[in-house]
Amino acid sequence: MMTDINKIEFVDLKAQYYSQKGTIDCAIQKVLDHGRFIMGPEVGELEAALSVFTGAKHAIGCSSGTDALLLIMMAENIGPGDAVFVPSFTFTATAEVPLLLGATPVFVDVNPNDFNICTIDLEKKINSVKAEGVLTPRGILATDIFGLPANYDSIHAIATSYQMIVWGDCAQSFGASMGGKQVGSLCRASATSFFPAKPFGCYGDGGAVFTDDDDLAEAMTSIRAHGKGGEKYDIVRVGINARLDTIQAAILLAKLPLFQNEIQRRNAVADIYDSRLRDHVKIPRRFKGRSSVWAQYTIKLPPRIRDKMFVELNKEGIPTAIYYPKPMHLQTAYAGFGKGQGSLPNSEELSQQVLSLPIHPYLTDSEVNRVSDSILDKLNVL
Ligand SMILES: *Cc1c(COP(=O)(O)O)cnc(C)c1O
Repeated sequence: MMTDINKIEFVDLKAQYYSQKGTIDCAIQKVLDHGRFIMGPEVGELEAALSVFTGAKHAIGCSSGTDALLLIMMAENIGPGDAVFVPSFTFTATAEVPLLLGATPVFVDVNPNDFNICTIDLEKKINSVKAEGVLTPRGILATDIFGLPANYDSIHAIATSYQMIVWGDCAQSFGASMGGKQVGSLCRASATSFFPAKPFGCYGDGGAVFTDDDDLAEAMTSIRAHGKGGEKYDIVRVGINARLDTIQAAILLAKLPLFQNEIQRRNAVADIYDSRLRDHVKIPRRFKGRSSVWAQYTIKLPPRIRDKMFVELNKEGIPTAIYYPKPMHLQTAYAGFGKGQGSLPNSEELSQQVLSLPIHPYLTDSEVNRVSDSILDKLNVL
């Protein structure tokens, strides 16, 4: 048995904190001292910094990635009778938010090579919704799974031809870019999450929305604070409480200067995995013009080997994860909106094959090599 010292962290939040302890402690202390815990000055400062970072005209902090999606959907007046097209191979929030508003998620298959929404299947699904004539196809909620932007060029082309809107669920991809543009500036509106384990995380729940559209920004800012208008007790629309905590904003501000280096290190870790594993397992594909922030480094293995690999690596102190073991169209809560087993074959197959390896900016080369060595060893015996 390995001792604890040899345990590799799947995501190492402590290493990150201790590398910046002074700055982060100081930022938190400053909030404790000024006492403006709700919508304190750090929230606005962070929003300004995020707007510069992404190139989006408006960046609006909020309470989580899920609430970020909700703010977008509420501001767009998504509701009963609307079809929102979502990939099935995603985190539950992508499907949950349209449903909370009474809209219908239409599950679309993904590509086996980038794990993101398949534009061929997307067009098929839009056409079948139109042919049925019951729902109005309103928009496409694309997801940048594992940190790699979806194929927005093709998605936008489809959206334009069907007069639909494109939104981005960029919870995993904040910091990535496509065609030289940062995530957050690739769609009419994008949502991200600052959940601690995401590439840019705070120390609790947090999120943000991004848009260039002034009206949408105004609506989302209002909905974030109970639908208020100019005055606090002037309620002009139905809203929610989805504000970002001042302390979380302060932590994110303190961490932002590190983020570019962290992204670089994530890429360096991915490069080592690539070179060690490419001849032996299916490694993540790279795409010209699209950079990833490597929220996950996800390999594909034959299903029987995948499950054993997960168990065997764990025994050696190497944690791995299965994102996602069940696609959304097969989830109990959403099954009524899908067409069952066999209907989205790529999503179903991926859920049996994927294995995400430890990846974070504080992994050493020797740790990455140790994970790689262990995988290669196991492949010989499984
Ligand atoms: C994490 C995540 C969310 C939700 O973010 P929270 O901050 O946890 O609410 C939404 N979509 C995707 C794809 C995610 O990975």
